[in-house]
Amino acid sequence: MKTVYLDNNATTAVSPEVVTAMLPYMGELYGNPSSIHSFGGQVGEAVETARKRVASLLGAHPEEIIFTSCGTESDNAAIWSALQSQPEKRHIVTSRVEHPAVLNVCQYWERQGYHVSYIGVDEKGRLNLDEYAAALSPDTAIVSIMFANNEIGNIYPVQHLAEMAKEKGILFHTDAVQAVGKTPIDLKHLPVDMLSLSGHKIHAPKGIGALYVRKGTRFRAFLKGGHQENGRRAGTENVPYIVGLGMAAQLSADFMQDERVNVALLRDRLEKGILERVPDTLVNGDPENRLPNTSNISFKNVEGEAILLMLDRLGIAASSGSACTSGSLEPSHVLRAMGVPFNYAHGSIRLSLSRYTTEADVDYVIEKFPEVIQTLRAISPFKN
Ligand code: PLP
Repeated sequence: MKTVYLDNNATTAVSPEVVTAMLPYMGELYGNPSSIHSFGGQVGEAVETARKRVASLLGAHPEEIIFTSCGTESDNAAIWSALQSQPEKRHIVTSRVEHPAVLNVCQYWERQGYHVSYIGVDEKGRLNLDEYAAALSPDTAIVSIMFANNEIGNIYPVQHLAEMAKEKGILFHTDAVQAVGKTPIDLKHLPVDMLSLSGHKIHAPKGIGALYVRKGTRFRAFLKGGHQENGRRAGTENVPYIVGLGMAAQLSADFMQDERVNVALLRDRLEKGILERVPDTLVNGDPENRLPNTSNISFKNVEGEAILLMLDRLGIAASSGSACTSGSLEPSHVLRAMGVPFNYAHGSIRLSLSRYTTEADVDYVIEKFPEVIQTLRAISPFKN
């Protein structure tokens, strides 16, 4: 049976080049980068090469990159640092459509007595800028707004948002886990103080991430212990995975310009093909400002989980909402924040492509979708 993987916002295939780069560090190159001897020196150099590669993808300096275990850790560490380094400030600004890696952290701090402003979005998932401007206050310790949304693909106006925060002297963090490698980011011109990224969204393995911290930003370590990562993240470095992340960053830097065009063409073909063949559908998100690889489509009066199961039987992997919320039958917090009508929100499917998606994949999915939706609508308990 043909298989088509369209769940790349959940995780991506590890690139063969990444595997090849990592393998020596799982074999003969096993030293500890902190060791003085040559076993350590060799791997220490590899870690620094990876740091340069990640920095270069973002227009950052290598010293500004801290390797972490994942995007979630980077988000936690950024918010932790901002609150610990400014104990007098008790307010956080975020949005209602963040990933749980930020949203649940903010809710945690709210329970510890912090005040959190959750900025709303409109029906296309666009941030309410008036609400944002009104929320920034002298008591705000940090703004954490995502660069791009994992469910609908919206790209947020981080440049503008960060400038507004900086004017008031407020630290700005962005969760760029879904944006890195898919849309250009140049930290030379983008006034954010901290930025999170994750390896497994850019064809490196799961379990490696990075946090960018702009030079001069006061930083308090989330993980305390040894002096690794310049005292900013304790724990012996995960050398093979760091090397893998470095290679993945290099590949993104080399090929992103062409890839984003190709991936967007395929995504548009897929979306158009489905919309033309299936009635009563809605595309969720802001078509003017979206990641090139993401399409979120709602099908009226069908259950998203049922669509996923039928697609899976046809060899097609997709997602309803974010991977972290699938399993729950509630419409996702993002679609609820956008006010997507109930009978559409329940039947929402996210299709996310990658550099490995082909035209044949897309055409197979376009061919299969109408029969899946027709079958489910015929047996749907919802009134059609
Ligand atoms: N932030 C966003 C926007 C994400 O999409 C994800 C993963 O889905 C994360 C954070 C968490 O990253 P990780 O899985 O590396 O912890």
